[in-house]
Amino acid sequence: MKRKKLSLPILILIGMILGILGGIPFQKNPEFAVNYIKPFGTLFLNLIKMIVVPVVLCSIISGVISMKDIRKVGSVGLKSVSFYLTTTAVAVTLGMIFANVSKVGVGMQYASDSLTFEAVESPSFMETLLNIFPSNAVEPLVSATMLQVIVLALFFGFGIILAGEKGEPLGTLIDSATEVCLQIMGMIIKLSPIGVFALLLPVVAENGPSVLLPLFKLILVIYSAYIFHMLTVFSFTSKVMGKISPMRFFKEMMPAMTMAFSSSSSVGTLPLNIECSQKLGAKKEICSFVLPLGATINMNGTSIYQGVCAIFIANVFGIELSLTQQIMVVLTATLASVGTAGVPGSGVIMLSMVLQSAGLPLEGIALIAGIDRILDMGRTVVNITGDANCAVCISSAEDRKAAKKAARQKAPA
Ligand code: ASP
Repeated sequence: MKRKKLSLPILILIGMILGILGGIPFQKNPEFAVNYIKPFGTLFLNLIKMIVVPVVLCSIISGVISMKDIRKVGSVGLKSVSFYLTTTAVAVTLGMIFANVSKVGVGMQYASDSLTFEAVESPSFMETLLNIFPSNAVEPLVSATMLQVIVLALFFGFGIILAGEKGEPLGTLIDSATEVCLQIMGMIIKLSPIGVFALLLPVVAENGPSVLLPLFKLILVIYSAYIFHMLTVFSFTSKVMGKISPMRFFKEMMPAMTMAFSSSSSVGTLPLNIECSQKLGAKKEICSFVLPLGATINMNGTSIYQGVCAIFIANVFGIELSLTQQIMVVLTATLASVGTAGVPGSGVIMLSMVLQSAGLPLEGIALIAGIDRILDMGRTVVNITGDANCAVCISSAEDRKAAKKAARQKAPA
């Protein structure tokens, strides 16, 4: 009898379980895991990063060209950005409610002299805005500055539409390049079970009970908020706006969620997220536009983390946050999420910006730094699930709009 081949999501799940179990014996001596297993994970992430820029560039250009109408691109773009900012603001607020109710950090003992943290220079709002527009057409591709890559792709897409017949050959070439990039990405994704194993094992090995236990309550509160946000906000929007059952949504998203959990990188998960969202029925042109945008600007998980951490740090230092300060946290966390890339650890940089604006001590970050990777894994899952959620909702809304338009045209005058 022919043996049935295991599907990729199952293999990724096996890789993840083996990575977690395999890391436990190394907790006493993590050097081996770090020196000899982690590099394979890094190699896998590097391959993904290698293909991400061509995938984003080509797929956004293809997406724009296939919408054929600059106004439609504008309308989809505006809807996506509004969706992203709204869910992000809800996420920070939810994180703060969870932290306030659970009183996380209250009465925690710490040795104040052991807390030091170098503030990372965070860009101002105007700087963030200016940084979106590149002054050089090649540099963003080389440095993988995703927001700039998106802007470049939009301009090229618009240019091809406006050039009409003369632009068609370039459009065809880009469509072909997109297909080639997606095939390369497919090959790399086949390696994900091994990649996931090699990425997770060292994390478990390095984060033994002595690192985790003192901050167990913080981890628990943050993860509860992540799960609550996904089960309520994403279930509601996928049901009401995306017209698909939440069960199906989460089931199809499993491979991308597993990948996000292991890699802690929204950008690295992008190729798999595009695949999952299309399986959920989101149109290719919408996915290729909305998802790369989301991987760069939409971070629901990161905002939950910021909301909880801000309250946690205030509680540890015995600072009472006024309502104005709490609103400041919501605003800065929402805006800060736009300017930060979907790579491991970028949430901490944003957190220092949020703390600064609310007048909270930056030293508090030193408390969290040790477990940041554990929190990053979960927040990346929420981040990419939010992106896919938006793609599904916008795609379904566009379908309904097109159906209405077609019905109006058919109806006799
Ligand atoms: N790692 C997260 C992501 O890639 C960003 C963060 O650090 O919060 O989405």
